Amino acid sequence: MTQDLATRLLAGERRALARAITLVESARPDHRDQAEALLAQVGQSGRQALRIGLSGTPGVGKSTFIEAFGGLLTDQDLRVAVLAIDPSSARSGGSILGDKTRMELLSRNPNAFIRPSPSQTNLGGVARRTRDAVALCEAAGFDVVIIETVGVGQSETMVADMADLFVLLLAPAGGDELQGVKRGIMEMADLILVNKADGALKSTAIRTCADYAGALRLMRKRPNDPDGFPKALTVSAAEGDGLAEAWAEMQHLHKWRQAEGHGAARRAAQARHWFEEEVRQGLLARLQSDPDKLAAMDRMGADVAAGDLPATTAARRMLDMLGG
Ligand code: GDP
Repeated sequence: MTQDLATRLLAGERRALARAITLVESARPDHRDQAEALLAQVGQSGRQALRIGLSGTPGVGKSTFIEAFGGLLTDQDLRVAVLAIDPSSARSGGSILGDKTRMELLSRNPNAFIRPSPSQTNLGGVARRTRDAVALCEAAGFDVVIIETVGVGQSETMVADMADLFVLLLAPAGGDELQGVKRGIMEMADLILVNKADGALKSTAIRTCADYAGALRLMRKRPNDPDGFPKALTVSAAEGDGLAEAWAEMQHLHKWRQAEGHGAARRAAQARHWFEEEVRQGLLARLQSDPDKLAAMDRMGADVAAGDLPATTAARRMLDMLGG
């Protein structure tokens, strides 16, 4: 069963890819087994896509950008997959990103594949499913995989940890709004794109971009990057301005890192990170599925809160119980 799916996936069939992603997203144990078999079968393809993480607050223009940028790439005969991570669906079952009318042209383009966020109860589950989906898109021969997220909470770190490049989309804003972007997120960005640099907003966008460029220059120089990175540029997703330049910068940075061996090192570090994260999640799941251990956790939590037991001691006892 999975052999047939694997063959069709490796041939680049989008319907096979969609089915394969459904399989890795499923929580059913038999589906999990099939998904693992499938991932093992296609994992040897050796194909790699450029993985671009893209983040920005709601309304900044992510879908407009992906629609236009994705079109630019498919016009160059590149195949583009877009995977979304929506942290709101992990929390509430609701959705900030899941609007059906988003990226209408790209969704009809035969060289593009768009997949909304998996709905899960926790972000850890979303991370694993998205990583598996990235691997499936690569096996299906996609050249670029864009992993999109809303700029709230931990989802940005998660996306940066599974991407080759991390792009932050920002809106034109008054000078003091620079403070609004958390330093940690700016430090993850390889490229800051100030969107909506058109019409009445153009001059503000140019000023905002200069402010961010200044802020980036003040940050610690990264030993693994060529001169000038991280960079800030203005774009207009609506009018298509600056998109080719943004793509050229992404390619330049990516090629440089590949040539220097940093690209492979980054992926290796990410793989190790996700392995350790899976073990952490698995331990947590083991705890949560065992009523006795949960009760012990509760009891010890109360003792810690009451000051009767040091937190460190309680944690060690709990871990001893889990380790078996
Ligand atoms: P998302 O929530 O980040 O996906 O943002 P959308 O792509 O849905 O865009 C939010 C709003 O900003 C929409 O009304 C877009 O038309 C508008 N918008 C997006 N990109 C641009 C742009 O480059 N220039 C201007 N002027 N408006 C834009």
